[in-house]
Amino acid sequence: MGRLDSKVIILTAAAEGIGQAAALAFAREGAKVIATDINESKLQELEKYPGIQTHVLDVTKEKQIDEFANEVERLDVLLCASGFVHHGTILDCEEKDWDFTMNLNVHSMHLMIKAFLPQMLAQKSGNSINMSSKASSINLVVNRCVYSTSRAAVIGLTKSLAADFIQQGIRCNCVCPGTVDTPSLQDRIQARPNPEEALSDFLKRQKTGRFATVEDVAQLCLFGI
Ligand code: NAD
Repeated sequence: MGRLDSKVIILTAAAEGIGQAAALAFAREGAKVIATDINESKLQELEKYPGIQTHVLDVTKEKQIDEFANEVERLDVLLCASGFVHHGTILDCEEKDWDFTMNLNVHSMHLMIKAFLPQMLAQKSGNSINMSSKASSINLVVNRCVYSTSRAAVIGLTKSLAADFIQQGIRCNCVCPGTVDTPSLQDRIQARPNPEEALSDFLKRQKTGRFATVEDVAQLCLFGI
């Protein structure tokens, strides 16, 4: 018996990194996983794992989300994991960077939760997990102005949902990882003018002397179910 036998779990941003690791961890525990992402080809790689089906979904598109929600008959857990890390202070952040980040990192969660919450309320049970970050209202992190703002907003959204719906059987939590070794982290390091120095700076900030792994964070998500 798996811990999640008979649970239906929908994940966003599940083709790579933390979302992918969480999808695999949930499926190993017996859940029926619906992994979604905008990246169709990467997403398809998950189809070979028992218990995982996939659905191409852009979490910034309300119409796509609503159509998808109408297709889903039941869900127990919604894990929203989409996000983009903009590098820089407020002075480096152009309007388009601000809008893109807030849209993908926060507004997408608002759209997903609004689409799926009515179903959870009808079932009188549900679990919503949002991906935030230590770079938020938790820690001071340099050069993460709009990212930290967006992740602090996710904490506010999560607490607000928990306060409003806990008495109707809905649990809502967020996960706030430190730096996690993912393809996007490696891309960000490579995009810095001096990648070696960037890697060393990132590592210096880790009290453990290492990055978290996607599996570490997947286990945290599992704990939250
Ligand atoms: P990531 O942020 O690089 O992206 C994961 C997936 O998001 C990709 O498969 C991508 O195709 C998908 N995606 C991008 N735009 C999308 C859209 N419009 N609709 C649907 N999917 C879309 O992966 P990651 O580094 O594993 O991070 C996952 C989450 O965890 C993010 O929200 C990130 O901010 C957060 N986080 C990451 C770290 C870290 O160090 N990597 C630390 C704390 C929090």
